[in-house]
Amino acid sequence: MREPVTAYVGLGANLGDAAGTLMQAVHQLGLSQGVVLTGQSSLYRSAPVESSGPDYINAVVALQTHLTAPDLLRCLHGIEWAAGRERPYRNAPRTLDLDILLYGDGQISSAALTIPHPRMWQRAFVLVPLSEIAPQRVPAECLRHVSEQGVVKLL
Ligand code: ADP
Ligand code: MG
Repeated sequence: MREPVTAYVGLGANLGDAAGTLMQAVHQLGLSQGVVLTGQSSLYRSAPVESSGPDYINAVVALQTHLTAPDLLRCLHGIEWAAGRERPYRNAPRTLDLDILLYGDGQISSAALTIPHPRMWQRAFVLVPLSEIAPQRVPAECLRHVSEQGVVKLL
């Protein structure tokens, strides 16, 4: 079997019990075949960016996985679906959004998957929790660049 890869997954939700949904999603991810959770950031609150509705709750988890990146995405979509995710229109408010931020040092650019996640470097709600658990993966300059965006760490 090939070596496991360290991947980082961003979680976000702004409908219903967003914090509860996020914690349930982390639990589900930990139970998923071929996935071992190795780190979890705090929960953060952020105002919608290019979206609407209530504030978002965000977090980032680290995992080790034998899944390929497309298989990991399928696994994440299954967890989104179980949380009642609907996609009525682009950037709609959502019960749960799970994105692959980084997959080892992999670079992927296909119709269904772009890694590193193309918008992560502009988003404090991704970079701040990611830097909490993997500071080596977030250049200080990128963090500085998003420092004006309001992201509040929850207790
Ligand atoms: P958003 O871009 O707001 O997260 P969706 O969650 O609806 O929107 O995702 C739309 C599509 O983005 C997914 O069906 C997936 O194929 C694609 N996608 C491309 N790159 C990624 C990635 N790194 N992580 C998750 N989804 C991705
Ligand atoms: Mg998504």
